[in-house]
Amino acid sequence: MNVYISCDMEGTAGLCSWKQCDPGDTHEYPVFRSYMTQEVRAAVEGARDGGARRIIVNDSHWSMRNLLLDQLPADDDLRIISGAPKPWSMMQGFGTGIDAVFFTGYHAKAGDAATLAHTYSDDVYRAIVNGTQCSEALLNAALAGSYGVPVVLITGDRTIVDECLRVMPWAIGVAVKDAIGFSAVNSLTPPAAQEAIRAGAREAMGRVARAEPFTFQAPFELTIETAQVEHADFIELMPGFARIGGRAVRFGAGDYPSLFEAFLAATRIAAAANAG
Ligand SMILES: [Zn+2]
Repeated sequence: MNVYISCDMEGTAGLCSWKQCDPGDTHEYPVFRSYMTQEVRAAVEGARDGGARRIIVNDSHWSMRNLLLDQLPADDDLRIISGAPKPWSMMQGFGTGIDAVFFTGYHAKAGDAATLAHTYSDDVYRAIVNGTQCSEALLNAALAGSYGVPVVLITGDRTIVDECLRVMPWAIGVAVKDAIGFSAVNSLTPPAAQEAIRAGAREAMGRVARAEPFTFQAPFELTIETAQVEHADFIELMPGFARIGGRAVRFGAGDYPSLFEAFLAATRIAAAANAG
């Protein structure tokens, strides 16, 4: 079985501040990128124990150059995708030939009362697909689902783990911390979180056969509520997007990958609006 791992950072054990996951920070970030790397290592080792053959890890946070590559296993069947921008962002490298997906270090969606809650960009106030308010995890899971591939492991804060298990009850969830507020957590220690992730990953491999792809039903409709009016001003310029409010745009698609790509394009053009 081949496994694809999308690893974010905000959901890493102990992490409670933007400083700890901002590559520009020279004090705390170097410590927390090591914690992130060790959680990914644990997921890789657990997958391997559970029977995974090829494993692809996609560094999915900020600059997407967070993982300390020499702290990952010496393993010819492990590939690491690093760097940004990349067209499919947190799902770069996903495609045919993959049997199961892991999300590690994931975090709550924009608007949740949870630590560092956001959805891809601070410019996104809410992302809604077919009426469902989506986290990064759901947006990404639906891309995998459109290829018939299930998510079987989600690790991160309790808010996102609970949300995922509600709609993907076949998956293994490892909640490494609870939110106290936007910048405060009550967490497992990093070594305890890593052990839980290693065990969870191994167990998740046993779930693949009875896991289901997470999908939305066609026709697909994406609504983005933006943080500011100027974000919607820019997104509206792209063909296919309709302005439906001062801070809201809508996009219809016949297939989910097109909706996913439209969402990513919208976040990128919204970022350009910030430059003004
Ligand atoms: Zn992130």
